[in-house]
Amino acid sequence: MTTRRTWQRCDDCGHEVDELDRSPRCPVCQGLLAVVHAMPARDGLRARLAANRSPSGVWRFGELVLPTAVDVAVSHPEGNTPLLERAALSAWCGVDGLLLKHEGHNPTGSFKDRGMTVGMTQAKRIGATAVACASTGNTSASLAAYAAQAGIPALAIVPDGQVTIGKLSQTLAYGARTLLVDGDFDDCLRLMQQVSVELGVYLLNSINPFRLEGQKTIVLELLQQCDWNAPDWIVLPAGNLGNTSAFGKAIDEAMAWRLIDRRPRLAAVQAEGAGPFAAAFSRGFDQLTPVHAETIATAIKIGAPASYHRAARAIVATDGVVLTVSDAEILAAKVAIDRAGVGCEPASAAAVAGVRKLRADGTIGRHDRVVAVLTGHILKDPGVLQQIHQNDSIAPALANRPIRIPADIAAVRDVLSSSGERQT
Ligand SMILES: *Cc1c(COP(=O)(O)O)cnc(C)c1O
Ligand SMILES: [Zn+2]
Repeated sequence: MTTRRTWQRCDDCGHEVDELDRSPRCPVCQGLLAVVHAMPARDGLRARLAANRSPSGVWRFGELVLPTAVDVAVSHPEGNTPLLERAALSAWCGVDGLLLKHEGHNPTGSFKDRGMTVGMTQAKRIGATAVACASTGNTSASLAAYAAQAGIPALAIVPDGQVTIGKLSQTLAYGARTLLVDGDFDDCLRLMQQVSVELGVYLLNSINPFRLEGQKTIVLELLQQCDWNAPDWIVLPAGNLGNTSAFGKAIDEAMAWRLIDRRPRLAAVQAEGAGPFAAAFSRGFDQLTPVHAETIATAIKIGAPASYHRAARAIVATDGVVLTVSDAEILAAKVAIDRAGVGCEPASAAAVAGVRKLRADGTIGRHDRVVAVLTGHILKDPGVLQQIHQNDSIAPALANRPIRIPADIAAVRDVLSSSGERQT
């Protein structure tokens, strides 16, 4: 028998299928499939990773992600995102030395590219004739870009009127066939399951296990940036729970492979109006009760998260927590992040709002080492920026209003002398 390096296993019944099997779910019980790797050679693993010269922050970790596909990767490249420290944001959260892993620096502006490079590589390897996803916008933008690069037609199913202008524009511009559905994301996801069965397209939603392999590298890369000295906390926004699941898998594997010797705790942050995971956490993860989702943070506006069980396991295994923050808290955090010159989309700001809240209630200590993940770029949602700063409609106290003047130096002088704080 040849030794397998990588295969897929059902979370629920343990049934195993080949690495190149194209089933979207377990063929026996319809459970979610996970990618499983044989133990890599642990001796010298950190040194091998450090010496890897791949330009991609995903494929640099290829031996832990998809060893057999490193040479055929559909890569932009992606990853290699900065770990930022900004005194203003540490102070705002009350946590010394808060670090921000800014995934908005990926090629299409969100962490979804890390999963998509692996998912699209897999699509190409198995000869998929079309790829598809349901999306709140970032997955469809990423799908469209990577499908264009791979030369595979892409189908995006998104909720009409609930995708930000930045994300919808990208999806269209990169050439995905885009369906605007009269419904919300949860309706889109249901529709997509049927589409994938009837039309035989390859599904690249976050239940696709290869996407999670790519998203693991957010954690692997930040641990490497910390010299494999694990932080106390990793805090992330949570919607469909693919990323929470990927983070849990990355931490499990980093422990098993002796890259780190202690587990960071995960804190998953949901919006108050889209918090079924937080509600389940508060009841000891008895079960998921879907909700009708409402929040300004459209990337996490999800009421029936697909990866609930594996995300719950990730929280339990890391002694983690799940909490909600209000839209007002999300907006306040977003303005703080933007004003620090960092910037992010609203869903990302939920992570920082979560850090502040966990610090305030004592769950996170002032001297804890905390990494908050900023999942998407500030320009993903220009509409919300316009609402904050130009329309006065959602957070008047936080607005930096533009001032309209005639083309005349006297008018400039007038403005600068009448608004003292603007001169500083
Ligand atoms: C997809 C996404 C999330 C949520 O990730 P899940 O895996 O759905 O929990 C959060 N923020 C942004 C910007 C996203 O694009
Ligand atoms: Zn199964």
